[in-house]
Amino acid sequence: MLIGILGGGQLARMTALAGLPLGLRFRFLDPAPESPSRDCGQLIIGRYDDPDALNTFSRGLDAVTCEFENVPVASLEQLAPRLPVRPGPRAFATGQDRANEKALFTSLSIPVPEFAIVRTLDELRAAAARVGAPSIMKTCRLGYDGKGQARLDHTDDASLAAAWHAVHEQPCVLERRITFTREASMLCVRGLDGSTAFYPLVENVHTKGILKRSIAPSDWPGHLEDDARRYAGAIATSLDYVGVLAVEFFVEGEGASAKLIANEIAPRVHNSGHWTIEGAETSQFENHLRAILGLPLGSTSPVGHSAMVNLIGGLPDRAAAMAIQGAHLHHYAKDPRPGRKVGHLTLRRDTREELLQALPRVQALADSVNVLA
Ligand code: ATP
Ligand code: MG
Repeated sequence: MLIGILGGGQLARMTALAGLPLGLRFRFLDPAPESPSRDCGQLIIGRYDDPDALNTFSRGLDAVTCEFENVPVASLEQLAPRLPVRPGPRAFATGQDRANEKALFTSLSIPVPEFAIVRTLDELRAAAARVGAPSIMKTCRLGYDGKGQARLDHTDDASLAAAWHAVHEQPCVLERRITFTREASMLCVRGLDGSTAFYPLVENVHTKGILKRSIAPSDWPGHLEDDARRYAGAIATSLDYVGVLAVEFFVEGEGASAKLIANEIAPRVHNSGHWTIEGAETSQFENHLRAILGLPLGSTSPVGHSAMVNLIGGLPDRAAAMAIQGAHLHHYAKDPRPGRKVGHLTLRRDTREELLQALPRVQALADSVNVLA
């Protein structure tokens, strides 16, 4: 079987690395010739909205999937009548526009930060009067790793004008800044037959809007895990979703009164699920492939306790990484640039105590090379 992936980045690379042992072959479409997936299959260099490139890409494929959420929906709609495109175009139309995402959360009664959609500076003034500060402006489209965002600490006219300028005067959501105690993500996989399996709730730490570290399973109150499953399951069902879906949450409060607030969805495999390669019975990448091909889903059970530490803007010496027992190096074959995710380290241990004891050494190694933008 030949699987086509729109996007040739590290998520495509790791998906292919999970699929090769299953006897699957891969083709990627990406405008960049140096894409990380280039060593894992056939790379077609072209634009996602170029009909000729899409034709060359799609010839002879058995299924198509995407590794990033900003794929042009029109391109997916062009492919969908001829090929299984999974997840389908609707998941992308929702995931790539924060206004649609908020509408979906709201329709499913999933808590979100107080927000308003803003299309003009006048609308921003009205919205700021309601939502207040501190808040955060996020462009409705094309944001990632904290890009396309402006923080609003005051709602006077000059601050509003500066924030509006900072987001390049594009349609935005203005949302209340949450004083979260934690950040979490729930990854689920939904099969072609509608069966759904959930990975354990993941604890995430971000710096400068970019994911720094994930730990799974969390040791948080069980009701958070239940709520996260319920919300992610409702989203997947309502989108008639097939594949791995990630939902990011803020956690407000502590203990029994802790509460999840939804931030955003990603209609794809997710950085906060990389630990599943070594830390779960079936990785998110393999389960995504199983789902889109209509194969039985694999167990999402964790194998012990795992931490994933991102390598951002720099890579450690291979030997130094491998000298740490239980650490696994993942190299994305990308040129390091400040703020760019170029790899990750996963550490796996049998117990949470052992994991937390060993983690500082792995984090220190990452911190010694990481260069944020
Ligand atoms: P990514 O694609 O990496 O997930 P993104 O650019 O889509 O990032 P968000 O996930 O919306 O952006 O925000 C990135 C981070 O910024 C969040 O994980 C959180 O740490 C912080 N943040 C975003 N929105 C809020 C908010 N309303 N209140 C407090 N912090 C926030
Ligand atoms: Mg995010």
